[in-house]
Amino acid sequence: MPSRTCTQMELGNFPRLGWADVAPCMATDVRSAIEQVLEAQQGAALSREQCLFLANAEGDDLLGLLVAADLLRSELSGNIITYVVNRNINFTNICFVGCKFCAFSRGPRESDTYFLEPQQVADKAIEAWKLGAKEVCIQGGLPRDLPPFYYRDILRAVKSAVPGMHIHAFSPMEIVYGVELTAMTLRDYLCMLSDNGLGTLPGTAAEILDDEVRHVLSRNKLSTSQWTEVIRTAHTCGIRTTSTLMYGHVETPEHWVNQILLLREIQEETGGFTEFVPLGFVHTNTLLFHQGLSRPGPTLGEHLKIHALARLMLAGSINNIQVSWVKLNRGLSQLCLQAGANDYGGTLMEENISREAGATAGQYTSPEEFQSLIREIGRIPAERNTTYSRIQIKAPFESFPAEPLLEPEFA
Ligand code: SF4
Repeated sequence: MPSRTCTQMELGNFPRLGWADVAPCMATDVRSAIEQVLEAQQGAALSREQCLFLANAEGDDLLGLLVAADLLRSELSGNIITYVVNRNINFTNICFVGCKFCAFSRGPRESDTYFLEPQQVADKAIEAWKLGAKEVCIQGGLPRDLPPFYYRDILRAVKSAVPGMHIHAFSPMEIVYGVELTAMTLRDYLCMLSDNGLGTLPGTAAEILDDEVRHVLSRNKLSTSQWTEVIRTAHTCGIRTTSTLMYGHVETPEHWVNQILLLREIQEETGGFTEFVPLGFVHTNTLLFHQGLSRPGPTLGEHLKIHALARLMLAGSINNIQVSWVKLNRGLSQLCLQAGANDYGGTLMEENISREAGATAGQYTSPEEFQSLIREIGRIPAERNTTYSRIQIKAPFESFPAEPLLEPEFA
């Protein structure tokens, strides 16, 4: 039985610690749970009770969790940190859903609303392609009078303008709305989008997959079962998705555990998730915070813990853990990349949603800035495609030459 002899160190110093430094200082239950995962390299080695120990870890136990997650990351994902060159396109800010954590949406009569026609979305994709983007991430608000086939028409316009662009688009909430607007079945609707150029689906609109919590966050949002139905159906139609969790508002560590276990269960069935992205709640300009319903965003410990917990619980299931640099800012992103994460996300070019909520990280991180931030923490930068099936390591570690970009065919 190890004695707890470490004095509690600052969380920000954990990257300098090794497992041998922290293991003797941890509570037996937490340490043995972590050792089980390290040995099996499988999150499935953990019981739900052990996951809860990890999710509630504090002090030296938390330091141990962070160090173990970084160790497991190096074993499962190596020293490469990936990113994707992409452009975010939010085609409208008009939305009837009214999520209390969202400061991006506007009512239809507000003065600063906007709406892009499919060709305007395609024009942005053309600009992005010229700047080297391989992916466009397209999501927006839900206006009441949306033309029924608007989402399909965006895909057609973008694909016809830039056939080589990967389209990562439409949250499960938008998919449910598209089904409602067209009166198609979910499967037929997803197949239609896929036939018209949809590459992958963002696993956003998940927030916390617990209907009681969802009711506090947004009364009109899709339910937990609708979210999982969209995701499972997309995966079985051959459309891969990301997975997300929003933390730091009204939820508890138990909600994190339940959600990550659910994602692991879906991944075991379908294998369709490409990555997991913890999304820290940005509270500053939100009703949820100003009505006194939430805490003021995550603490440093929560930011680090969720990335580490995800690495351990998802080991062998979803091995790509992404940081959301727009929500974390650059310094904290670097810390989370040393607490289990291995992916920096996208350059974005035009981020709007977190900025409107009060995030200050900016709208764009260039590939060169990603590379320098990655090298600053002693890791190897590599550009990837959306599904991680192609990774190009960047000089001075260049070993796979980049393929030349194809010229877009303009409509
Ligand atoms: S999060 Fe999405 S669905 Fe909710 S209010 Fe904002 S734009 Fe609308």
